[in-house]
Amino acid sequence: MSEHRLLMIPGPIELEPSVLAAMGQRSTSHVDPDFVPVMGRAIAALRTVMLAPSAQPFVIAGSGTLAMEMACASLIERGDRALVIDTGYFSARMASILERLGAEVTRVSATPGEVPSIDAIDEAIRATKPTLVAITHVDTSTGVRIHVEPIARLAKEHGALVVLDAVCSAAGEVIRQDAWGIDVVLTGSQKALGAPPGLAVLTVSEAALARRRARKTPPASLYLDLLEWLPIMQAYEAGKPAYFATPAVSLVCALDQSLAGIVREGMETRFERHARVARAFRAAFAALGLAMLPARDAICASTLSAVRYPSGVDASLAQAMRDEGVVIAGGLHPDLKATYFRIGHMGSTDRAELLTTIGALERALTRGGHPCEPGVGVTAAMRALAS
Ligand code: PMP
Repeated sequence: MSEHRLLMIPGPIELEPSVLAAMGQRSTSHVDPDFVPVMGRAIAALRTVMLAPSAQPFVIAGSGTLAMEMACASLIERGDRALVIDTGYFSARMASILERLGAEVTRVSATPGEVPSIDAIDEAIRATKPTLVAITHVDTSTGVRIHVEPIARLAKEHGALVVLDAVCSAAGEVIRQDAWGIDVVLTGSQKALGAPPGLAVLTVSEAALARRRARKTPPASLYLDLLEWLPIMQAYEAGKPAYFATPAVSLVCALDQSLAGIVREGMETRFERHARVARAFRAAFAALGLAMLPARDAICASTLSAVRYPSGVDASLAQAMRDEGVVIAGGLHPDLKATYFRIGHMGSTDRAELLTTIGALERALTRGGHPCEPGVGVTAAMRALAS
């Protein structure tokens, strides 16, 4: 590949050198005595990362969407009622997956940039009595983060399983799976977990596994059935090889390295770093005269920022940023995508990436017709970091 540009999109993300090195080792057998403990460690570390000592982790070849499909295909039977808390593009995907599985889906929706009120969610749970409530923690299309805990509590009170799409939040935003009573936390390897794309990751409660066991008919898909994978995950964690379908060996080596780094940092420290860096990004955007897409600071994600183009600036900003050495993403929400851009700040992102990105943004905006005093954004970001 050509000259390195700093990758600041909401996944895939920049990888730590140790993760790249693990990925680049000679390939090995998936049942090799050297690989088995690597897979076992990755599985065990996920309990620490999701604050879920009682959950069963799964690491499967596939992307985040596969993790969504696995959760739904394993837990939903034709005719079941599901409630989707709809905050944007990825909630719509979850609803489509559930509908294809024959669920009766109700959506509680918010305008883009907002979250549905807890009262509206409460009312929808009472009215529809769903067996499953699906929440997108951070909707990557809008940069909106929803407060999961009270929704999970309501869902539990009514006996529903809670599935959290944490693709753009796990290991970056606060998730306390056990304490909050979430049945499935699902994600992909390429975001705040800090590994390359290609692994679907889930941590699943005993209640969810019990629901799968109690189904009248097995899931139509073999690969998506959590119960097919359960003995495999248990075997690897117990130090024994097992086979159902070939694991993505090199990716698992990378994930193991990345998870080790995350556990070393400590979850509370990591959550706080993500929040601090995100606040500094927002301070810089404000100083540059840019408005956030999320309606309020309290619902702005710590893993990415969705920022409105100032007047006169358009989607060519991404190319101008690329010319400045930083890769950012355009809009994604179908109703608004021409009006905003997105910057990812997760994984190991810290002050160096923050200041490089904001410096590049100042120059790119100025070139794009939104003149910025050089250093204004960088200064605001530095002040926010120091405060
Ligand atoms: N959910 C959310 C919140 C996401 O951000 C993404 C990926 N951007 C997905 C699901 C789908 O993941 P993948 O692209 O890895 O299939």
